[in-house]
This record gives sequence, structure tokens and C-alpha cells, in this order.
Amino acid sequence: MSNLMRIKEFQNNLCIWYFAHGRDLPWRHTADPYSIWVSEIMLQQTQVDTVKSYYISFLEKLPDIKSLADVDEDSLFKLWEGLGYYRRVRNMQEAARQIMDDYNGVFPEHYKDIIQLKGIGPYTASAISSIAFSQEKGVVDGNTLRILSRIYNRQDNIALDKTKKAYQILMDELIKGSSPSYFNQAMMDLGALICTPKKTNCEHCPVQSLCEAKAAGTEALLPVNIKNNSKTDLYYITAILKKDNKYLLIKNKEGLLENLYAFVQYEVESPISFEEAFYENYGVPVRLTEYCKEIKHVFSHRVWHMNVYIGEITDSGTELDDYLYSEDEIADLPVSTAHRKVYNLR
Ligand code: SF4
Repeated sequence: MSNLMRIKEFQNNLCIWYFAHGRDLPWRHTADPYSIWVSEIMLQQTQVDTVKSYYISFLEKLPDIKSLADVDEDSLFKLWEGLGYYRRVRNMQEAARQIMDDYNGVFPEHYKDIIQLKGIGPYTASAISSIAFSQEKGVVDGNTLRILSRIYNRQDNIALDKTKKAYQILMDELIKGSSPSYFNQAMMDLGALICTPKKTNCEHCPVQSLCEAKAAGTEALLPVNIKNNSKTDLYYITAILKKDNKYLLIKNKEGLLENLYAFVQYEVESPISFEEAFYENYGVPVRLTEYCKEIKHVFSHRVWHMNVYIGEITDSGTELDDYLYSEDEIADLPVSTAHRKVYNLR
């Protein structure tokens, strides 16, 4: 069978199966790019079942790009409360404002423009451009990487960027000439329902006859997904956060410094990301005001690079009062050596 015929058969089998067995999800009833965008961003780090109700209420309150661009931050975060990773929705609002300014409030149609919007990566841009605008851009994520590894019986490590790039080309070949919207959504469902990570359901797979891993009996070995865990250097932003002459210290519940008190630190790349991560964790705004210096602390098998910032808790509430300590109190607290070095910078 020629490659083209294989592709046609793959598309037909997959889409016929999708019409009969695909999931009925709220965002599957629209081709509105804004709605699809909302669903895809919500789905990035949240389970499908959880997203359903959030999706509906978000669109009830903010039905279009303009309403998202205009809404105040508190109301916006309230709609996202419980979903976590608040940076997602903050980016969405920034993108909505970009669309208002640069596209007169109309969602851009082309992949190359969509991917320029804040917070939109290749997967989301492919999903929106294919589902809302019928463009032949295949979605590449854990599901489709796994399916392609098995269909082509390939042992490329899917944790590597070069594999993702190569599989993007494969996906873009496979989607050509199909209905891009149905094809991508069918691949998402095949990965979620049939060609799952642990237990494949090959008996009911619509593309079983075309699957090289199934023919070779290697489907349980694939995909190869080896992440490099040898990282020994960790880069943090560590914040000396102050309120009313007291300092914020948290007692570690686990990890390297269990039971010792420490300043808050996150593996993030910018002060604004720290502020967002802190808000996600504690629900209280803070502002980093000054960079101090990097402190390097060497453990037996790990090196911490702590980029220390001074900051303030800008909220007048009392939520964090239990974690605030005066200098006299800190003198009596068990604080790790690494964080004592940080404390001495103030
Ligand atoms: S036949 Fe099995 S391994 Fe191959 S794509 Fe279908 S479910 Fe996955």
C-alpha cells in the first residue's frame, strides 16, 4: 500500500471512530476561536472533568475577547479560583488586549499570528487554528507523541525537542487532506481512550491494521520517554519578604531541609513569575523591590543558586501573620545554613 493510501485509510478509520465514540465535551459544540482558546488553556494543567464547569461559567461571565480584556484582575482570578497556575489566565488577558489593539478585537486566523499571542505555544496554536479555522496543523503533545511512536514503531525519545519537531512534521503529513478539526480531536480522544500510556486497548483501536508496533508486538515498550534527571544545579529566586519589621519564614515540611525554617523560594525565571507563584500558593500579593545577589550553596549532591531579592507583602490582611517573625524570634528559630546566608544579606 502506498504511503498516501495508508494516510487516507488512517484518516478515514480514525474519523469514523471519532464520530461514533469521541467524547462529548462542551467545547466540542463550537468553532468559536475564543471559546476553543479558553478550553485549551484550561486543559493545559487540569483534568477534563474539572475543566467542564469552569469553562461554562468563565464563558457566561466573559463571553468574548473584549470582556476578557476589560475585566478587573480580582474578578478574573475569582473565575480561575481552584484551577491553579494563575499565570495562564493573566497571560490570556494580556493576549486579549493584544487582540483588541492589533486585530481590532477579531481573533487572528493564522497559526503564525496565533502563536505570537501571549501564553500560546505550538500545541494551543495548532488546536485553535485547526479546530476554529480548519488549518492543517497537527497537535503534538504527550498523547500524539505516544500514538505516533506506536503507529510507526519508532524508538525516538519523545522527551527530546528534536523528536517533537520530527513528529510535528509527521502529524502535519497525517492531517493533510482530512478535516483538520475532527482529525486533531480524534487523535486527542484516541490517546485518552484507546492508545493510553499504560494499557493499550488495541482490540478496539480504529487504526490497529496500520499500527506497526502492534504488528511487531512492541506497543507496550513504546513510547521511549527518558527525561534527564541528572540535574544537580537548581536556580531559585529567594525572597526576603517583610511586613511591619517582621520577616516571612516557612517551616519546611519535607525535602532536603525538613523542619528548618526558610525564606520562600521558587524555581522561576523572573521576579514577576515569583510574585505569581507566591500568589498561587498563598493567595496574597507580594512585590519584589530589590535584587541583592546570588548565593551559591553546595549540598552533597546538589547546588542551589539562590538569587536573593528583597520584597514586601503588600496585603494588609492577616493570612500570613503566623509566618512572620521578628529578628529576636528568628535568632531562636532553626534556620538552614543556606537561608542564614540569605538572612544576613538584609
Ligand atoms: S493498535 Fe494499539 S498500540 Fe497501535 S495505535 Fe492502536 S491502541 Fe495504540
